[in-house]
Amino acid sequence: MASLEGRVAIVTGAGRGLGAAIAKELGAGGAKVVVNYSRSKEPAEAVAKEIESSGGEAVAVQGDVSNPEEAKRLVEQAVEKYGQLDILVNNAGITIDKTMKKLTTDEWDKVVTVDLNSCYYVFKPAMEHLMETQGRVVNISSFVGQAGNFGQANYAAAKAGLIGFTKTAAKEMARSGVTVNAVCPGFIETDMFADVPQKVVDEKIVPMIPLGRIGQPEDVAKAVKYLCVDGDYITGQTLNVNGGVYI
Ligand code: NAP
Repeated sequence: MASLEGRVAIVTGAGRGLGAAIAKELGAGGAKVVVNYSRSKEPAEAVAKEIESSGGEAVAVQGDVSNPEEAKRLVEQAVEKYGQLDILVNNAGITIDKTMKKLTTDEWDKVVTVDLNSCYYVFKPAMEHLMETQGRVVNISSFVGQAGNFGQANYAAAKAGLIGFTKTAAKEMARSGVTVNAVCPGFIETDMFADVPQKVVDEKIVPMIPLGRIGQPEDVAKAVKYLCVDGDYITGQTLNVNGGVYI
């Protein structure tokens, strides 16, 4: 994919956080962006407006991607609006952090459904369209899926599962010229990270990161863009954007 110009991208969970940064990065490169949101209507509309005001094209589309019907409708709406689909970024995610002693089955299911199942729910109806355009899929996993983390069994399992899904999808889609990769962010400054007390950030987390800082959403967005634009011969891979916290 030589450039993003005229390409059509869906970014799930793009009203805020990493998804918003990814949507803006792709939009700035010339892609027409479907800014998916579940609850954050105004923020998603603001992201779409920002892309448009810098000369791009974007639309905010509601859809809970953990619901297979809504995920399918999201893909259909994207193709109806822009006529094709070139890029799918599976970014939507949640956490419910508890040690397994306290974690309920519902809390396990909820995180696995949103963070793992949703990626398949969107990918499945998107496949035929991505094959037509020799498209790009980027799944946002996490270093927690590689390293594990205390109190995050549900999240770690979902994110590790996403890496296995990425490798399999890459093998199945390669003959159609579609690449499928995962990006594993480290600690990135978004709402998901906002609950961590500043003292813990400064005294425990930053000292664990060789590059000495918390990541910014743009650090991840640039990696996603790289895989989409310059990653023609990269598939089934996991790109770690983590400041060295997991090597
Ligand atoms: P965030 O600020 O909490 O944002 C989460 C996003 O996911 C929101 O846009 C939210 O949309 C969306 N979302 C949640 N459930 C959804 C659903 N059922 N359908 C559609 N969208 C849904 O988190 P973030 O840090 O940007 O995280 C984005 C991704 O990066 C996640 O997959 C996360 O696991 C991963 N990640 C984050 C970090 C980090 O340190 N921040 C590290 C590694 C990986 P609504 O607001 O509209 O509900």
